[in-house]
Amino acid sequence: MQEGVMQRMWDSSHISGGNAAYVEDLYELYIRDPNEVPEEWRDYFDKLPQINGVTSRDVPHSTIQEHFLYLARNRTQHVSPAVVSSDHEKKQVLVLRLINGYRVRGHQNALLDPLKLQQRAPVPDLELAFHGLSVADLDTPFQTGSLFIGKSESTLGEILDLLKNTYCGSIGAEFMHIVNTDERRWFQNRMESVRGRPEINAESKIHLLERLTASEGLEKYLGTKFPGTKRFGLEGGESLIPMLDEVIQRCGSYGTKEICIGMAHRGRLNVLVNTLGKNPADLFDEFEGKKLHEMGSGDVKYHQGFSSNVMTPGGELHLALSFNPSHLEIVSPVVEGSVRARQDRRKDNDRLQVVPIAIHGDSAFSGQGVVMETLQMSQTRAYKTGGTIHVIINNQVGFTTSKPEDTRSTEYCTDVAKIVDAPILHVNGDDTEAVFFAAKLAVDYRMEFKKDVVIDLVCYRRRGHNEADEPSGTQPLMYQQIARQKTTRTLYVDQLIAEGVVTEEEDKAMANEYRNALDNGQHVVKSLVKEPNSELFVDWAPYLGHEWTAECDTRFDLRRLQELAHQLNEIPEGVVLQRQVGKIVEDRRKMAAGALPINWGFAETMAYATLLDEGHQVRMTGQDVGRGTFSHRHAVLHNQKDGVAYMPLAHLAKDQPQIDIYDSFLSEEAVLAFEYGYATTTPGALVIWEAQFGDFANGAQVVIDQFITSGEHKWGRLCGLTMLLPHGYEGQGPEHSSARLERYLQLCAEHNIQVCVPTTPAQVYHMLRRQQIRPLRKPLIVMTPKSLLRHKLAISTLEELAEGSFQTVIPEVDALEPAKVTRVVMCSGKVYYDLLEKRRNDEIDNTAILRIEQLYPFPHEDLLAALSPYKNLKTVVWCQEEPMNQGAWYSSQHHMRRAIAEHVPGSDLQHHLKYAGREASAAPACGYMSTHVEQQEKLVNDAFTL
Ligand code: AMP
Repeated sequence: MQEGVMQRMWDSSHISGGNAAYVEDLYELYIRDPNEVPEEWRDYFDKLPQINGVTSRDVPHSTIQEHFLYLARNRTQHVSPAVVSSDHEKKQVLVLRLINGYRVRGHQNALLDPLKLQQRAPVPDLELAFHGLSVADLDTPFQTGSLFIGKSESTLGEILDLLKNTYCGSIGAEFMHIVNTDERRWFQNRMESVRGRPEINAESKIHLLERLTASEGLEKYLGTKFPGTKRFGLEGGESLIPMLDEVIQRCGSYGTKEICIGMAHRGRLNVLVNTLGKNPADLFDEFEGKKLHEMGSGDVKYHQGFSSNVMTPGGELHLALSFNPSHLEIVSPVVEGSVRARQDRRKDNDRLQVVPIAIHGDSAFSGQGVVMETLQMSQTRAYKTGGTIHVIINNQVGFTTSKPEDTRSTEYCTDVAKIVDAPILHVNGDDTEAVFFAAKLAVDYRMEFKKDVVIDLVCYRRRGHNEADEPSGTQPLMYQQIARQKTTRTLYVDQLIAEGVVTEEEDKAMANEYRNALDNGQHVVKSLVKEPNSELFVDWAPYLGHEWTAECDTRFDLRRLQELAHQLNEIPEGVVLQRQVGKIVEDRRKMAAGALPINWGFAETMAYATLLDEGHQVRMTGQDVGRGTFSHRHAVLHNQKDGVAYMPLAHLAKDQPQIDIYDSFLSEEAVLAFEYGYATTTPGALVIWEAQFGDFANGAQVVIDQFITSGEHKWGRLCGLTMLLPHGYEGQGPEHSSARLERYLQLCAEHNIQVCVPTTPAQVYHMLRRQQIRPLRKPLIVMTPKSLLRHKLAISTLEELAEGSFQTVIPEVDALEPAKVTRVVMCSGKVYYDLLEKRRNDEIDNTAILRIEQLYPFPHEDLLAALSPYKNLKTVVWCQEEPMNQGAWYSSQHHMRRAIAEHVPGSDLQHHLKYAGREASAAPACGYMSTHVEQQEKLVNDAFTL
């Protein structure tokens, strides 16, 4: 509000005079939190009339001023202004502002850097003078407002001491950006009540030292035994281990049964051995390069995952560290998906039983976009997990050699977390007890508010990026200081000896004991449960060792299918459907009765309904999946009266399995990673991600490359995730035509994934059912149609759903005379219907059209069977809509040639396999409809004439 208006307001009011700014300031504090102002003022403000019943404390400053203007205009409403006469009363509000200043900006003066090299800008808000106070006021008593000091009045000196100790010690707490008042107050109370540093008993101190001994001991041991070998050591950040120990134990005391951890390579070996209890002897074998698993191609030791059970005050707790690729940060959404899957399995709606911990590097946290995506998903219906405990191993060197000023534009590496109002606890990694307290606070906050929280462990990296790297070339000053710096453990031992908690002998004995355990190849986690309770995790044994060719019966009783369809299309009273949606439901009723041919939407929905009926869980997320991008699905209906969603698939039976269909937020990378995490944790569920258009999956390429297509071979982790990718050349331009089939085919090897292009409703029905019913768990990549969703020829019958199966190759469907057939055109997807229409229109009778519906694993036997009637073949053509450098041509032609060669032994027909398709092209498709139509006509003609 402009000054003039303010002036008028006070002139016209008898809440006026020299007190104006004072009262307004006070009122602003009151609005934010009534406890922040002295009691008599609180009473006074409480009694003020309100505008439109506004009581929100989170109102902007201008609203407060308007409120006063309103009060001034309505003097008749018995507004009795407080008279502020004395200097003391004026200073009172300044003191309250000072308190606020420390809460908001104290962290900027906190002692966070163990190396003491950080240069921080001065913070005026923390100076007395900035608030109009001076050392002369230090002995003056003031009301303490909401300050957690145990008395309503205290001298300014005492208040300042409390504020400095609480907010400028080894923990810099950022929480005043949080909108929710309860959360802010919670932090104030927790921090101020212990002056930022709670008392810790001797037993806990010795335990912390033991954990630091383990942390430092392992790195020293590995450094001596395997000098110069890459291990991405934790040295400089050793307090991560006591921190994790406290997080895990404290979660256990809340009743947590499983914790999933994601982390990059720094410190991973330490966490594996000292937190998860991996046998050091196994780690040493890995250092020696031994092959530990017969299956798969394996991965380097600092990407390995691990699982174990540990004992906590609340009982046994299962720990799972996810396998991780080098691509920093991408594991976080995978962990989230795994956690959500475990919560769903346990029906853990309070989200206390399973907790995610994500450990990050400082520059990855500020640099990688997937961090923002993962934070953004944290409170959404589809992806929330009740709050993640994030830990940043902030060694103050970005990536390998970068300085913070080059790796971010924000003050802290953690600032991105503020987008979800997460509190951030920066803590000096060399103050082990502060780290311990930060861990407690983080867990308590997560359990209380079910939201993300961040611990920024400010530490350093004693060595280079890895042990073979020399860091002083690029970070000279930092490494001069590091050379002088005592280790975290040494600092803590010195402290405990000075406090009389341990003696030098006890300290040495502790270090020796740890080293001896390593020498003997013993487990070094005391809480490790030797005979773990296997009920805490899923048994994957039934899914191991299957081939894709294994028999699979996807038939379903016709009558039951009709019953289910009837139930789905019986919309409850009171649910009013929009006109076109009503028509879809009406048509589906007719399809169920056999009065209309079955279309894509019906068949797909029935795949889900029948699977649910057979006891399988179904989960689908993606862009607009409830309706389907092209409005074919309508699995989620929206009541036109009140907008409330109704999902018929969730109302099939009282005790039916879980069905989730959620529209995703506009992310591909984090969402696909999440669903990968879900699918690799829940073999009993059909898990589907659908892209709006197939090429949107480009944004998630790292997930496809590093998890979906290679995870089983690197890590032995099976995954039955299904990706539905709309694909088809319909003149919609370069971005909306191609799902980039060639990308997936290029990644195919060792039967790692399945790539299918179904062309009929019955095919999509059986394909989806097969994916879940068969015990094989392999990713399924599907090119799904757009115009085919409503194509008059792309139809099926009820009998085909009830009786059929997924056909990897669909043989010729018309009654051609095989002896006349001299040409076979093979194709996949929508172009089939163009070819079929052309052949029928032109009454061509010498050409059979075969559809390859599964491009990988290539269905060699089924293609042979489909070719077998044609003994007089002269020409074989592969027809595709995609340009030559795209689609299946380059990746699949050798499979086709092999089948042709086997079909006509001795001939050289396989060498003359012809290509009918678009010319090679840089863009996936042209942008002009007329060119598109021309190209399409040509390639269809070519198929019959080349
Ligand atoms: P977790 O709960 O992730 O620690 O998994 C417990 C155990 O189940 C692992 O040690 C594996 O033996 C097995 N397991 C978990 N996920 C998979 C998977 N996706 N594929 C195969 N086995 C798995």
